[in-house]
Amino acid sequence: MLKNDQLDAWDRENFFHPSTHLADFARGDLPSRIITGGSGCHIEDRDGNRLLDAFAGLYCVNVGYGRQEIAEAIADQARELAYYHAYVGHGTEASITLAKMVLDRAPAHMSKVYFGLSGSDANETNIKLVWYYNNILGRPEKKKIISRWRGYHGSGLMTGSLTGLELFHKKFDLPLAQVLHTEAPYYYRRADVDQSEADFVAHCVAELEALIEREGADTIAAFIGEPALGTGGLVPPPDGYWPAIQEVLDRHDILLIADEVVTGFGRLGSMFGSDHYGMRPDIITIAKGLTSAYAPLSGSIIGDKVWKVLEQGTDENGPIGHGWTYSAHPIGAAAGVANLKLIDSLGLIDNARDVGAYFKSALQAAVGEHAHVGEVRGEGLLCAVEFVEDREKRQFFDPSRKIGPKVNEALLKHSVISRAMPQGDILGFAPPFCLTHAEADEVAGKLAHAVKDVLG
Ligand code: PLP
Repeated sequence: MLKNDQLDAWDRENFFHPSTHLADFARGDLPSRIITGGSGCHIEDRDGNRLLDAFAGLYCVNVGYGRQEIAEAIADQARELAYYHAYVGHGTEASITLAKMVLDRAPAHMSKVYFGLSGSDANETNIKLVWYYNNILGRPEKKKIISRWRGYHGSGLMTGSLTGLELFHKKFDLPLAQVLHTEAPYYYRRADVDQSEADFVAHCVAELEALIEREGADTIAAFIGEPALGTGGLVPPPDGYWPAIQEVLDRHDILLIADEVVTGFGRLGSMFGSDHYGMRPDIITIAKGLTSAYAPLSGSIIGDKVWKVLEQGTDENGPIGHGWTYSAHPIGAAAGVANLKLIDSLGLIDNARDVGAYFKSALQAAVGEHAHVGEVRGEGLLCAVEFVEDREKRQFFDPSRKIGPKVNEALLKHSVISRAMPQGDILGFAPPFCLTHAEADEVAGKLAHAVKDVLG
């Protein structure tokens, strides 16, 4: 086995890490952390630290670390048949079984699932299919896509454009011209201090209507949104937001893509966020929770209305010109089947709901009254604590003070991993669904210490 200093040197010399300050890392100003193992909600690193991972990797290891059932399913599949493609009607028992299991869990009007590898590529698929759909329907002008500021949909060319966060656009020549952004459903930050939630929803709807009016409904193909904002701040929508948005989209014949990469398969304490908030999507994006990240796999679940037109398109034009070598990879599919079975057999979605509610109250009790905590929010096991300079005036800290990242670092010193969200002083928590009450208390208690360490 390589010594730690050798690994560290190779790491800095050779490895291009995603979402990393490259120059700081190369200089050695940013620590490298080499993870060696994990079990339940904990991971271990090469220095012998045992850390409680309250962000489940990148909110994806939903069943927790070290699940032998999934490891065995992957190994069995690799031994039996590591790969065959899914083109021209080919498949494996694992990919066919997983498609059925996904559809059995999805909203009733969903028809088929296409498998990819990442949330980003699934959303690229979705946009291509939406364009194809409108071309088949003879509406070549109906192509623009509306996304929300602070939405996160990936970091490809189209998906980085859909993402409504500055870091993902700046210096990359994004967003692309076909993408439009509208108001973020982020009541705490975007509403006036004395504005009611209902008035703020009306404002979001009015902004959307105005955008559609300006651009022309006949130029807009789809609206994409996460049921609850993820990377943009971990924000459940204000009451009534989705039914009001859905009504506008239906009236203008605009498709709805629900990006459930984070919320799919239980994170909000229900199977899908679409059911949770009364959305009626035409396409649903899934990834992370599909395999709990034991193997890379994503999916686009296509509703009846779009599916019928895709079939018509292939009658008119021949086979659909879309697919990747690794679509429906058998090892990913085997991991997905084992993962969904485990979620059911351990009752993990109920746990996400029950322990999630307990965890939010514990966070509230631990730091909710602190003078620099503006809001503790969450749904299921997706929670956030937002820091402010002044609670009464709802005045935010100057970003250059990096309060969120500092609390994140302080919490790590107490052996708990959270995530400093990229825009705003927002500390995110999205632990594995097997979190216990005792672990929830531990995170909340250590957070109180970390907040004190940084903010007094
Ligand atoms: N959509 C959402 C809602 C996400 O949170 C993410 C990743 O965090 C993505 C899409 C992109 O997924 P990936 O990183 O697998 O490309």
